[in-house]
Amino acid sequence: MREHIRSLLKLQEVDLRIEELKAKEEVIPKQKERLLLQEKKLEQEIEEHEKNYKRLQLAQREKEKEIAYLQEQVKRLDSQLMSVKKNEEYRAMLKEIEDVKKQIGLKEEELINIMYQIDEANLFFLESKKRIEQEIKSLKEQAGEIDKELEEIKREREEWESKRNTIVNTVEPEFIERYERIRKRVKVGPVVVALEPSKDICTGCYMKQLPQVVNEIIGWEKIHTCRHCGRILYYSETLNEDTSFALDKS
Ligand SMILES: [Zn+2]
Repeated sequence: MREHIRSLLKLQEVDLRIEELKAKEEVIPKQKERLLLQEKKLEQEIEEHEKNYKRLQLAQREKEKEIAYLQEQVKRLDSQLMSVKKNEEYRAMLKEIEDVKKQIGLKEEELINIMYQIDEANLFFLESKKRIEQEIKSLKEQAGEIDKELEEIKREREEWESKRNTIVNTVEPEFIERYERIRKRVKVGPVVVALEPSKDICTGCYMKQLPQVVNEIIGWEKIHTCRHCGRILYYSETLNEDTSFALDKS
């Protein structure tokens, strides 16, 4: 019995290691997804600024054109003013010129506002873009590290899996089957657990075991499973004792 338990414990050690690595393999891609999302956000930030910058430049040109057009209008009205003979007509034209000039004034204010925004956008390109690009670079590097880590873990897991195959071949199929059956049910964590002899409890679920069962486990008479959680129980105190002496039934 002792030998079987030892083999199963070896197998379990490998299985727990594989389980741990698999859990990492699941978590790591999620970390990478988060990084990629951050990277995308930063790239979008730059794009937004570039779009805004182009929009402002366009608005500046538009505004300049409008002002030039109005200035032409003022010139045209000014020259027409010379040939006006009636007082009323003259006053009306003066008023018209004044209105156009007011419009020019407003548009010039708008232009100044646009140019102010362009200055700010330029400042962004000078300061923030570099920083953001640096951040993106660092995120890409981190993502690369994560890829490497994942590959490393995968490789390690595959190594353990081949070790597992070697161990499985040394254990009697009957015990392997039993172990696998329980493992499927337990899902996470150990399947073979120690009996806590001072309190007669299973260390998998911490429930008390029957005295006869405890005696048989301590005596290595047969393999018992916990009647509450179904895990295989063993007596850890004498696990590594030499099994060659006569009274041992393993
Ligand atoms: Zn139990």
